Amino acid sequence: MSAGRSVLVTGAASGIGRAVAAAFAAAGDRVVLADRDGVAAERAAKELGGHAVAHAVTHAVTMDVTDAAAVAAGTARAAELAGPVEVLVNNAGIVAGGGPLLTLPLDVLDAVVAVNLRGTFTVTQAVAARMAEHGRGGRIVNISSIGARQPTAGLGHYEATKAAVDALTRTAALELAGHGIRVNGVAPGPVRTPMTAGLMDDPAARAAWESRIPLGRVAVTGDIVPLVLFLASDQAAHITGAVVQVDGGQLLT
Ligand code: NAP
Repeated sequence: MSAGRSVLVTGAASGIGRAVAAAFAAAGDRVVLADRDGVAAERAAKELGGHAVAHAVTHAVTMDVTDAAAVAAGTARAAELAGPVEVLVNNAGIVAGGGPLLTLPLDVLDAVVAVNLRGTFTVTQAVAARMAEHGRGGRIVNISSIGARQPTAGLGHYEATKAAVDALTRTAALELAGHGIRVNGVAPGPVRTPMTAGLMDDPAARAAWESRIPLGRVAVTGDIVPLVLFLASDQAAHITGAVVQVDGGQLLT
């Protein structure tokens, strides 16, 4: 399964998801950009389409991963547009603010669980069922976070969902291996995207993040993308259930 694949990326209108979608399109794949903001997804698909190699195609679907009916409709539409999904990147994720355990409003926790955990589970279930039905295998890459393994005060709600994504990655890998479906994760450290722009533009906050990174800088999306493409490629044919960090060494500290 090499270039020319049907690829579905969630949360693809922005940040890491958009960069991942761009890279698959540049590799000649048929890429469906899914996002809860369908207009933004459509805009991104058009922009990426202009840069894709000749045989690549980019499409967009509106899909809120917290809504099971929208996921069923969106994944079915993605298959109509680009063919049965062969590569799924579960990228949609939110932080929804932060705060200490003692005072974090429970609706913030619920919102983050709904997107990061339930959303990843729901989309995986919908897409993997079709992959198993078609019998041609598949690749799933979940975007986790090093926060799953290294705590930062005030981010416990978010980090717990990413630890759950790591657990789901391993269980899905085990359960789906018999169908030829590989499931892996990529765990970034801090990356400059619209999600983190506020922090990164504050020199003191940025310096605090950088001081934790042995390689001395916050990542850009281009640091994360190659591992996603590798894990989805045939070169990773014997890798499943792994969650690999891209963090400038932060987990070493
Ligand atoms: P981003 O720029 O905010 O992009 C996330 C995209 O997902 C946005 O387009 C967002 O739409 C969309 N989205 C949010 N909720 C959704 C839902 N319910 N259904 C469908 N789409 C939804 O963030 P990013 O930094 O690229 O993050 C991408 C992934 O990387 C996330 O899973 C995040 O947890 C993970 N990650 C990021 C960092 C980092 O430092 N940036 C570090 C580690 C891991 P809206 O704009 O409308 O919300």
